[in-house]
Amino acid sequence: MAKERAFLEVDFVPEHHESVATRTQHFHEFISTLSDSEAQTQASRCMDCGIPFCQHRCPLHNDMPDFNRLVAAGRWEEAYSTLIASNDFPEITGRICPALCQESCCLGLYEPKEVGIKSIERKIIEYAYANGLVQNFKVSSYNGQKVAIVGSGPAALACALTLNRLGFKVSVFEKMDKLGGLLRYGIPDFKLSKEVLDRKIKQMVQEGVSFYPSTLVVSTAQAATTQLEQGIHSDHRQVITLAELKDQYDAVVLATGSETPRDLKLPGRELQGIHFALDFLIAQNKENQGQGLNPINVKGKKVVVIGGGETASDCIGVAIRKGAASVTQLDYHEELPESVNVREVWPHPRHIKHTSTSQEEGCTRLFATNTTSFSAKDGKNVSLVHTVKVKWGPGRKITPLKGTEDKIEADVVLIAMGYAHPSLKAFAESGLQRDERHNFKAATTGKDAYQSSDPKVFVTGDCRRGQSLVVYALAEGRACALSVYQHLQALPQQCSA
Ligand SMILES: Cc1cc2nc3c(=O)[nH]c(=O)nc-3n(C[C@H](O)[C@H](O)[C@H](O)COP(=O)(O)OP(=O)(O)OC[C@H]3O[C@@H](n4cnc5c(N)ncnc54)[C@H](O)[C@@H]3O)c2cc1C
Ligand code: SF4
Repeated sequence: MAKERAFLEVDFVPEHHESVATRTQHFHEFISTLSDSEAQTQASRCMDCGIPFCQHRCPLHNDMPDFNRLVAAGRWEEAYSTLIASNDFPEITGRICPALCQESCCLGLYEPKEVGIKSIERKIIEYAYANGLVQNFKVSSYNGQKVAIVGSGPAALACALTLNRLGFKVSVFEKMDKLGGLLRYGIPDFKLSKEVLDRKIKQMVQEGVSFYPSTLVVSTAQAATTQLEQGIHSDHRQVITLAELKDQYDAVVLATGSETPRDLKLPGRELQGIHFALDFLIAQNKENQGQGLNPINVKGKKVVVIGGGETASDCIGVAIRKGAASVTQLDYHEELPESVNVREVWPHPRHIKHTSTSQEEGCTRLFATNTTSFSAKDGKNVSLVHTVKVKWGPGRKITPLKGTEDKIEADVVLIAMGYAHPSLKAFAESGLQRDERHNFKAATTGKDAYQSSDPKVFVTGDCRRGQSLVVYALAEGRACALSVYQHLQALPQQCSA
């Protein structure tokens, strides 16, 4: 048993990362779960603060001081119960959450490193699976009400799991051929193994949730004949309308994500070799699942990735694994400092330069660099990306700096500039109100939480809040389920994410 509150004696030890040289030879996860004793020792660093800022910062409000105390004492079963009381998907967050909590850990104020909460979370759930602690929830009786959920990303999965356990018959409709949303088709296997996702979905099926992949939901039969926007993917073999779902179910939840990619409408955009990031990532995830080769071949090629977020990083990691000759990342943001005085910013986010594990694997990062056009030596296939350095001013105004024009050689360009909103075409005639950013409009608090302008339709996750993080999608999915429950059962309490 590790000594509790051993923060003065125990140093931070990270999870083991396989070396860059070997991990870039495969697509498997390369971060190992902590051993039992490592996790116990690391959990013992928790100061068990009276006011746990980490818990406040986590969108799921996980109870870190309690599960750390229990892990340190070797009380794994209780640690597992504590963790899953707030987080139904710790195997996902323990791998890919950016660990917002850790920036707010009080220990980070005094020690070079905060408590490794995310790694302990991952350890608890993997320990629980390995030791038979994960048991399917048995729904004692169904209440006769049915809910349809559209989409199968983290918001949909969290919503479905919760509603099923509350006694609703839940059917999940997904337009892609496999389930999981961006967990399956966005995030590469080396960050999140699909086996981890399948293990969870299997549990949900066993508990009673019904899944209908390859099923596109649209507002009207007419919309079914419409092509979805460029850059939005669908493997559907059947189409069902929102009106049909509203007829057949007591409530419908839209958890359709933020799929419309931001484009670069610049001279030369039409050239061959310029792709949206997800065209590349989805195809690679499919290739890894044995569903045909990725048609975007980067082997031996000069790859330019435009964008500075997670999607861009994932493109870098995949391109390196696929044998790209070089990877250059263009980020129009200015380079941030390597560190800040933690005492000046804690417990708020630290605006510092982050280096992802994919960037660590070898790419050239160019900051404050804006793309101005693309050109092709042969007039057909992109060969140059034209750029200019920019300066950021007040009001996020960016000014190009004269004389800094440059060009970068490129055989393949991946546009990873984020996602604007859910498809406009799929739900064009639904009449559902959208906000000024074209996301589905709904409050997150009060008696109408997550209810759209149509009282029978609820909206949750990225299709409501805009492009975000898995942990927010999970929190919204769960809170939306409670709101649906409250409406269908006319319960008095309120909920919020
Ligand atoms: C490449 C990439 C990497 C990322 N990496 C991370 C990360 O490391 N950590 C992190 O926290 N976040 C990450 N994110 C963000 C995170 O994945 C999203 O915030 C999260 O998945 C949103 O969940 P969601 O359930 O709202 O939507 P999604 O995961 O987008 O799921 C929406 C689902 O709805 C389906 N759908 C849409 N329309 C219809 C329709 N009309 N009919 C039927 N089905 C439909 C879609 O096919 C999709 O499966 C990443 C995002 C991307 C793009
Ligand atoms: S879900 Fe993310 S923010 Fe919450 S405790 Fe886990 S790692 Fe921290």
